[in-house]
Amino acid sequence: MTTPDIISIGYLIAAVLFILGLKGLGRPRTAPRGNLMGASGMLLAVLVTMLDQAIISYLALAVALVIGSAVGALLAVKVKMTSMPELVALFNGFGGGASVLVAIASFIEAIELGRADNQLATAAAATALIGAVTFTGSVIAFFKLQESLKWSGFTGLPLARAMVMVVALLLVVMVALQPDTRAWLWALVAAGLILGVISTVAIGGADMPVVIALLNAFSGVAASTTGFVLDNPLLIIAGSLVGASGLILTQIMCKAMNRSIFEVIFSETPAAVAGGRDDSDVYGDRVTSTSAEEVAMLLEVADRVVIVPGYGLAVAQAQHAVRDLMTSLEASGKEVMFGIHPVAGRMPGHMNVLLAEAEIGYEHLLDMDQINPTFSETDVTIVIGANDVVNPAARNDPSSPIAGMPILDVDESRTVVVIKRSLSPGFAGIANPLFAADNALMLFGDGKQAVIDIAAALVTV
Ligand code: NDP
Repeated sequence: MTTPDIISIGYLIAAVLFILGLKGLGRPRTAPRGNLMGASGMLLAVLVTMLDQAIISYLALAVALVIGSAVGALLAVKVKMTSMPELVALFNGFGGGASVLVAIASFIEAIELGRADNQLATAAAATALIGAVTFTGSVIAFFKLQESLKWSGFTGLPLARAMVMVVALLLVVMVALQPDTRAWLWALVAAGLILGVISTVAIGGADMPVVIALLNAFSGVAASTTGFVLDNPLLIIAGSLVGASGLILTQIMCKAMNRSIFEVIFSETPAAVAGGRDDSDVYGDRVTSTSAEEVAMLLEVADRVVIVPGYGLAVAQAQHAVRDLMTSLEASGKEVMFGIHPVAGRMPGHMNVLLAEAEIGYEHLLDMDQINPTFSETDVTIVIGANDVVNPAARNDPSSPIAGMPILDVDESRTVVVIKRSLSPGFAGIANPLFAADNALMLFGDGKQAVIDIAAALVTV
């Protein structure tokens, strides 16, 4: 068997492993196996690519490997679990940036060797545009997730965005038609970088999860078009899988948020509006605070309890304490379920991952459509560190930045206990009328400590 045969067979096996891995990741039970298959596919792909020594010397690869591993190990140790979403956003951006660099280098080499035809130029142009948008878009998303970037609005932004988009598309055509003129390519990269910034900077409120999913899809599409530039079938397949699954996730997120992708990208969103309203209008003196002992007494007489986790559960790392509370409630004959909102937390599936870590069985987790009809039969709902996903303003206030976003209807339960440290807003930056509702009690404090206190008080009730 010749080396090219071994490379082709290796790539084929890696592609099959990627596809089986993705299939496995579709269900919680098969996810660990799927993860292993995907990782094995990637290892095989790397080994086979190294065999295909056309790319770069082993020494350069070894140096890159050492630097990359050192950075990866440092990030794994240093980055807190709650900062994972930002890191994932940054990784999307690095993927897009790497695609641009590789495609440009390979295309310029082709120009110099006189092999740059229109087909290659089209693939390079697509990579330059999509990769550059992904890079700067993801960097902006990173700062937004860190909540260190606030956008105060600019009325000309939709027009500027449309103009840069048109210029970028014209530049794609110019690169494709005149492959030997490098200036078109550089101008296209610049347009893509600007487009990434102005497309994401104004997106906020409930739309951020959609943007993260879309950038993830873009990083896959950019990798796939790089595969065409490099004539590497495995990169085309792997990039397409990431792109397609990212687009499916984007569609799921759009559906969950009741928004079309067009509205997310082109409307002037809410970040500017958020926080503008005086909270005292919403809360007045109608907020009732409670204690762990009082909550324990409510739970003692409850038959059905629903727990709604949000981003604050991740911050407090309260998942194990919540599992213990669930166990003691079930031991006294109560039904305990979890209501999971699709965008609770800061990344898709965030709550599922946290609760799985605490070994809370999947049979206890109900998604929004399943849990919402049951709130009216629920005695006590405990909201832990969730805010936007339980904000009734989304349902009742058409002028709210999150208007139309489907929420968990926790206010329909007999009593709602909200555990958080203060009346501060959540990611969307808006007040939450739930906290002032007649059937709502606020248990102020850190999520983990509050749950531990309730469990302790339950023993003594
Ligand atoms: P929110 O961001 O709306 O609210 C989280 C709440 O947690 C805060 O109000 C905070 O209040 C509280 N909190 C923080 N730390 C603690 C702690 N240690 N103990 C107890 N409470 C704490 O979270 P949700 O999950 O309700 O909503 C997610 C939001 O994030 C949505 O707006 C969504 O669009 C957005 N988003 C989601 C993404 C995703 O993919 N899931 C991605 C990007 C954005 P306090 O400070 O008073 O304690």
